[in-house]
Amino acid sequence: MIETDILIIGAGPTGLFTVFEAGLLKLKCHIIDGLPQPGGQLTELYPKKPIFDIPGYPSVNAGDLVDNLMEQIKQFQPGFTLNEVAEKIQKLDDGNFIVTTNKGTEHKAKAVAIAGGLGIFEPRKPVLKDIEFYEQDDRGVEYFVKDPEKFRGKKIVISGGGDSALDWSVFLSNVASEVTLVHRRNEFRGALDSVEKVQELKSQGKIKLITPGEVIGFSGSERIHSVDIQVGTARTTVECDYFIPLFGLTPKLGPIANWGLEIEKNAIKVNNALDYQTNIEGIYAIGDVNTYPGKLKLILCGFHEATLMCQSVYNKLNPGRKYVLKYTTVSGIDGFDGSRKEAEKAVVKSIE
Ligand SMILES: Cc1cc2nc3c(=O)[nH]c(=O)nc-3n(C[C@H](O)[C@H](O)[C@H](O)COP(=O)(O)OP(=O)(O)OC[C@H]3O[C@@H](n4cnc5c(N)ncnc54)[C@H](O)[C@@H]3O)c2cc1C
Repeated sequence: MIETDILIIGAGPTGLFTVFEAGLLKLKCHIIDGLPQPGGQLTELYPKKPIFDIPGYPSVNAGDLVDNLMEQIKQFQPGFTLNEVAEKIQKLDDGNFIVTTNKGTEHKAKAVAIAGGLGIFEPRKPVLKDIEFYEQDDRGVEYFVKDPEKFRGKKIVISGGGDSALDWSVFLSNVASEVTLVHRRNEFRGALDSVEKVQELKSQGKIKLITPGEVIGFSGSERIHSVDIQVGTARTTVECDYFIPLFGLTPKLGPIANWGLEIEKNAIKVNNALDYQTNIEGIYAIGDVNTYPGKLKLILCGFHEATLMCQSVYNKLNPGRKYVLKYTTVSGIDGFDGSRKEAEKAVVKSIE
């Protein structure tokens, strides 16, 4: 059983920044995310896009913002349960919570912060006969590249025209024995530099490109052996060990929708006048996953909500103890890793 002060569900920017704000208050955090890596929408949907409305950054790539958040929270040593979906929640008589994932991992926490964004991302699947058979038990259809080593020395067919399809084709061209990228248009939707890289690898013979083309079927009795591809009016067959359709992800609120929380339009209602608590005491909802009058689904709003929520958890866990707000410029930061980052400047006016 993993034990922590605040269990955060969702490793998007809101969940990650919660670790920092909680750390300032000496509260330990553990994060669960259904995806194999932290970053939420930023990593999964637009890692290379610049964001222009993060205070203090005239422009920052989404992937870099996630890297910076990870660097900032390192000192507070958060735990991570990645690649697992928070499925069940139980409130104990003493007010603690037990959250169990789809893989049976149990987490005990004094407070739960749902930072689940738009929910669990589910892969968009191509409509192909028998695809369900090949999805199971390592029979050859994969929707995520969770561990690239799995594809070492294998023949891979990737389908899709966005960043994921391009980036994984590039990456796996150094891992797999053969990479074929199939896209139904000649133009790709992904970042220009990724398209250029794929074209370069094609000219070096490291990636086979089939456009416009569409995978229309499979063969292989026990596991996948080849895919059939429609190319204009012709058909071709490409031998492969794995077929990886990367057509994007659709978000769904998922199991959290059954936790007895008040839901409105696929989002969790919270008390925004105070602390972003839900209708169940001790369960908070912050970031894109919540709703209240005037709600804006923006990263900076998630950061603000996380900050106020942590203060509320601190007050609940330390009844009767008055918390005095301290600027980090004055107090510095005591990391849980033993590091002490000294305050660089004293502010003129003490707030105490
Ligand atoms: C293309 C695009 C561009 C954008 N540009 C901007 C911009 O310029 N500025 C801006 O401020 N915002 C922008 N946004 C919005 C911004 O990305 C979101 O506001 C932000 O990601 C919300 O962060 P979050 O941490 O609340 O949720 P998310 O980033 O959605 O992360 C939630 C995480 O929770 C996980 N999760 C959900 N349910 C469970 C569960 N039951 N168990 C385990 N894990 C779970 C998900 O897997 C996900 O990783 C953009 C969004 C998109 C799609």
